[in-house]
Amino acid sequence: IYDIYAVSIHKNEFRLGTLIVHRDITAEYEVNQMKSELVSTVSHELRTPLASVLGFAELMLTKELKPERQKKYLETIHKEASRLTNLINDFLDIQRMESGKQVYEKKRIDLLATVKEVMTTFKTTNKLHHFLMETDRDQIFILGDEEKLIQLFTNIFSNAVKFSPSGGKITVRFDCKSGELVCSIEDEGLGIPEEEVSKLFQKFYRIDNSDRRKIGGTGLGLAISKKIVEAHNGEISVSSILGQGSTFYVRLPLLSDKPKRVANSELGH
Ligand code: ADP
Repeated sequence: IYDIYAVSIHKNEFRLGTLIVHRDITAEYEVNQMKSELVSTVSHELRTPLASVLGFAELMLTKELKPERQKKYLETIHKEASRLTNLINDFLDIQRMESGKQVYEKKRIDLLATVKEVMTTFKTTNKLHHFLMETDRDQIFILGDEEKLIQLFTNIFSNAVKFSPSGGKITVRFDCKSGELVCSIEDEGLGIPEEEVSKLFQKFYRIDNSDRRKIGGTGLGLAISKKIVEAHNGEISVSSILGQGSTFYVRLPLLSDKPKRVANSELGH
């Protein structure tokens, strides 16, 4: 894409010539496209929870309500406000990760314990899905940033919940061999069309079809997940059968079982 314009150059009354400026603006155009995509996603995704917060707050201010009703409305306001916070955090996170400004505080952690913790949170807040874990290990050590890994598994689990019907099973498996851990998260949900698989990890990418239009999201969860896995020298991938379910695979390098001093170089110092 080119931008062309002419400038006349004068000195006193004399016209000295014309300068033709011919500029490649492809990059600018792409940045602008990205910006408008971002603005439309942000405004759409922010508007929905904000409308709820405003609506319920207004009801509480203008109506005489029974205490039970008040509590219900307050719970909705709280839920929608936390959704807003999560959204804004996602936007900030992807920006920080893309600009290389994200700091990872890596230490030796038991990933099995971390994932179990995330799973317990899901089990207590979501009674509609069945979470199962399959592993023959008691502990699995990796070098990682615990907070970021919690974010990674929270993203994958919440997609598994969001895109599968109530009563669906979500199975997490751990497989360790040749210095590598493969964690798979399998659901019995909508699945992903084959032609969309390669695009899922791009930011803002969402599959747009009638099954999913009502399910909220920003299309940032998997882009953030990919950045987190890559920062841990790992890989994330997915295999899926449309209408039957999806399995996400997270591969990460293992640390040996025996505690050892972690070299500074491994920590990135
Ligand atoms: P969001 O969930 O906010 O839309 P993500 O980046 O987490 O964004 O996911 C991108 C898209 O990938 C989703 O919109 C959804 O269509 C698809 N997707 C992700 N996980 C699953 C899953 N477990 N089953 C089916 N589709 C999924």
